[in-house]
Amino acid sequence: MGNARKDSIKCPICDEGTLASREGEFVTEVRCGTAKKELRVGNISWDECDACGEKIFDDNAMRQISDARYEAIGLLTPSELKEIRKRIGYTQEQMAAFLSIGNKTYCRWENGSSIQTKSMDTLIRCATRDKLSELQKKERVKQAVDYLARLKEKRLHGLEEEELRVAAHSKDASSSEITKFGLKLFERKGK
Ligand SMILES: [Zn+2]
Repeated sequence: MGNARKDSIKCPICDEGTLASREGEFVTEVRCGTAKKELRVGNISWDECDACGEKIFDDNAMRQISDARYEAIGLLTPSELKEIRKRIGYTQEQMAAFLSIGNKTYCRWENGSSIQTKSMDTLIRCATRDKLSELQKKERVKQAVDYLARLKEKRLHGLEEEELRVAAHSKDASSSEITKFGLKLFERKGK
């Protein structure tokens, strides 16, 4: 475990003891529904008073413990919420409207000052997954439209349709492969 610091810092809680830095696994409790269970969080650093036993955590340690708590309950962490929202390209206001909840409520979840319920967590996961696949579908349609527009452009420059198809499907094909492919297309047309 940690050692007392050379420049001993007085405990701000009891004003008597000295703070020593500690490192390792931090054991706390997490509430799951009505039951409480033990929560062990590894690789945590904190300061501990040798008189009153108060533990003092910095922001980083607080976030590690908080994330472990969310994970233990099976909820998206505030940073995961933010990441999901950004992925579907929503502002906090748009996300709140999307979930049919108040702005403030959503903001509190994302900054960690309150925790979403399990049912809202499930709704967020499902709704954003659908939204994301909808966006991906739109993106594919857009790519197809762009591709067709490029084809049209090339055609204006006097290239044969077959050549264009080959060019679009196998950029690295050799000229003999392209010819072979072109012949096949002609055969098919003849039938
Ligand atoms: Zn103290």
